[in-house]
Amino acid sequence: MSGQPYSYQRRVLVEPDWTRFPGWRHVTRAEWESAQWQRAHCVKNISQLRDVLGDTVDDKFYEDLAADQRERATMSMLVPPQMLNTMCPTAPPTTEALYADPIRRYMLPVLSDRRTDWPSHPYASRDSLHEHDMWVAEGLTHRYPTKVLAELLSTCPQYCGHCTRMDLVGNSTPTVDKLRLTLKPVDRYAAMLDYLRTHPEVRDVVVSGGDVANVPWKHLENFLLQLLDIDNIRDIRLATKALMGLPQHWLQPAVVEGIARVADVAMRRGVNLAVHTHINHVQSVTPLVARAARTLRQAGVGDVRNQGVLLRGVNATPDDLLDLCFALQDDAGILPYYFYMCDMIPHAEHWRLAVWEAQELQHAIMGYLPGFATPRIVCDVPLVGKRWVHMVNEYDRVRGITYWTKNYRTSLEKDDPLALERRYPYYDPIHTLPPEGQEWWQTRRGALVSA
Ligand code: SF4
Repeated sequence: MSGQPYSYQRRVLVEPDWTRFPGWRHVTRAEWESAQWQRAHCVKNISQLRDVLGDTVDDKFYEDLAADQRERATMSMLVPPQMLNTMCPTAPPTTEALYADPIRRYMLPVLSDRRTDWPSHPYASRDSLHEHDMWVAEGLTHRYPTKVLAELLSTCPQYCGHCTRMDLVGNSTPTVDKLRLTLKPVDRYAAMLDYLRTHPEVRDVVVSGGDVANVPWKHLENFLLQLLDIDNIRDIRLATKALMGLPQHWLQPAVVEGIARVADVAMRRGVNLAVHTHINHVQSVTPLVARAARTLRQAGVGDVRNQGVLLRGVNATPDDLLDLCFALQDDAGILPYYFYMCDMIPHAEHWRLAVWEAQELQHAIMGYLPGFATPRIVCDVPLVGKRWVHMVNEYDRVRGITYWTKNYRTSLEKDDPLALERRYPYYDPIHTLPPEGQEWWQTRRGALVSA
C-alpha cells in the first residue's frame, strides 16, 4: 500500500529560545513568564522591532512593512514577545525566513504580501458581517435567534492583520478611522445585561471584544457573575486569542483564582463555561500555551476550543491544518473546533481562499483526527451567519459567487417576510477565478464600489 496523504507524528512542544533575538539576549525566564514584562515589551512600531531583531534583517523588509502600514494595513502593530518568539522559531531570523514565516504573514503584513490586481474585493467592507448594524445595545450583537456576541471592549493584547472586527478593534491606522465605543464600560455592561434580562430567548453569550484578556479581571468577573445570575443564560464562552498570544496573562494567580470562582458558580448553576481561542499555526502551540490551557481546565473551565482562521500563506494546506489540530488535541487539551474562512474585509484578498478551496481542505482533513476533534471549516456569510462550506446552495464557479440560504432572521430582518427565501451571496477572490471570470469582474471594475 502506498503512503497516506498525511503522516501523523507526535510532536514535542518546544518554547523557542527567546535569547536568540539580540534584543532579548538577557531576558530571564522569570521575566519571560511575567505577564507584566510581556505587556511592557510588546512591539508596537518598526523601531522597537529593529531593537529586538538586531541587524539580521535587511532594511528592505522594514521599508516593506512601513509601506504597508502607510497604504494598506487595517490594524496597527501590536505583537507580544510571546508571539514574536514563535516566528522563525529555530534560529535568529534572516530576511528570507521572516518573509516566509506563517506567523509573520498575518501579524506583521508587508506591502509585497498583498495583491496588486485586486487588493480588496469590490464587495469587501469594513464591517463585513454587519455586527455593528445588529447591535441591540452598544457592543451587543444579536444575530442568531438564541445567541449574542458581547464586545466588552475594543482592544486586544495583540493585533492580527486580518482582524474581522477591523472596523472597531484597535487604534486607527492611516487607512482606517476606527469606530469608537462611546459609553463608559460600566454603562455598556449594564445595558448589555439589561437586554439579556429582558430577552429570555437568548441562552448563549460569547463574551468577547477585542479580547477579554484586556478587561481588568475584577470587571470581567463582576460581569460574568451578573451574567450567571440570569436564568436563561446556559452557555458562556470567553473569547481570548491571548491564551496563545499572551498565555502569561491566563497563568497569573489572581486570574486563575478568579476563573475558579466563576467556574464554581457556573458549575453550581449548571451553566457551561468555555474559553474560545484563535490559533492559526502549529508554531504558536508552545508549552506555555499548553500550560495556560490546562490551567484553565483545572480551574473549572469546561472546554477550551480553537477557532482558527484559514489564511493563504499561513495555514491553507492539509498538513498545516492537521499539524496544528494534532498539537492542540495531543498536548494542549484545546479542541480543534472551527476554521473560519477569512472575511471580506478590505485588503485581504491575498489571504482569502475560494469556497472550493476550503471545501477541498475540509475533505483532506477528514478521517485523521477523532471525529469530535475534526474542525469544521465555515464561511461566515454576510447577513446569514456561519455555514459549513459544503452547505452552499448554488455556486457560480466562473464569477466566484456562492449563494447561501438561512433558516432564521437576524435582528435586522424581524419583519422581513422574504428573509428566509432570499439567497445571500459570498464572493471568491477574483484572482482564483478562471480567465473569463476575471474578465467579467474587470469589465465592471469602474462601476463597482471598492472598499
Ligand atoms: S485577537 Fe481577535 S479581535 Fe483582536 S485583533 Fe486579533 S482577530 Fe481581532
